[in-house]
Amino acid sequence: MVYLTNNIKGESIIKKKNIFALVSLIILTTISSLQTQTVKADSQINNYIIQNKFQPASIEYHAGTFNVWQGYRNGVGKPEGVIVHETATPNVNAAQFVKSFDNNWPRLQTYVHAFVDDQRAINIHSTDYLVWGAGPSANSRYIQVELCRVNNRDAFARSLANDANYVARKLIQYNLPDIPHKTVLSHKETWPMFWETNHQDPDSYFAAWGYDMNQFHALISMYYNNLKNSGNVYGTKPTPAPQPNNDHVITVNNPKATYVPLVTFKADGTLEQVGNRALANNTPWFTDQSKTVNGVVYHRVATNEWVAETYKV
Ligand SMILES: [Zn+2]
Repeated sequence: MVYLTNNIKGESIIKKKNIFALVSLIILTTISSLQTQTVKADSQINNYIIQNKFQPASIEYHAGTFNVWQGYRNGVGKPEGVIVHETATPNVNAAQFVKSFDNNWPRLQTYVHAFVDDQRAINIHSTDYLVWGAGPSANSRYIQVELCRVNNRDAFARSLANDANYVARKLIQYNLPDIPHKTVLSHKETWPMFWETNHQDPDSYFAAWGYDMNQFHALISMYYNNLKNSGNVYGTKPTPAPQPNNDHVITVNNPKATYVPLVTFKADGTLEQVGNRALANNTPWFTDQSKTVNGVVYHRVATNEWVAETYKV
């Protein structure tokens, strides 16, 4: 950044006639048009998740012991969606399940891509390749994630947030649309599709909490759309930096035009008007420096862009 020396040969404040040269290029305050997706299905548990803005656990990638490296029917890296399972086993969390699967493969001929509980989401086999969590037809099409059972409503809500986040991010990772019953399925739903496994999960476990797949689809859809639009499951921008001290914020206005001109200082200290940028009227600007040149106070609003005190409201 270029800072000015004290040896400045200043020039006079902006002349009215030059103000009009700036009219075509005005910096306007941008109003965020970010669309935030909200859950549509009526669900007390979804509302609880959203009100508390439970931040889903980041997906952990752990190399499991499953040593079958087989692509889906459409190829490696071509899953067609995600199957939602639940473990049907109380009091065993995701880390414990991962350990158990790793210890028991290949004695038990089953393996899934990930386990999720209220604290963690642990991926244990690359989702580019199939696993053995349902029947062969389902295995050759879908990523498969197991939701672990928990013992209280708060933990259940948190586990759903983690699971929905896993599903939504996997759909996005593989450029898949979010279509309930097509790209997101319960294990139960695969039975009448392929007649290979007749499991009922996770529907029966969900029912014990007054929850169902439609509500879960709504949560997944909200996360999916918000992640796509904003990179955040709740559709909010990252936490903004602390607001600057208001002592250093000035609001500027030019009653003679719709914008406020800026000036810059050349290396020799002489003042020059900024021809292609200006400030919108009645907008606040953070300023970190002020100085006086030929009796006029200027406030710095960018590296070498200054606004005259004259325009301060
Ligand atoms: Zn299942």
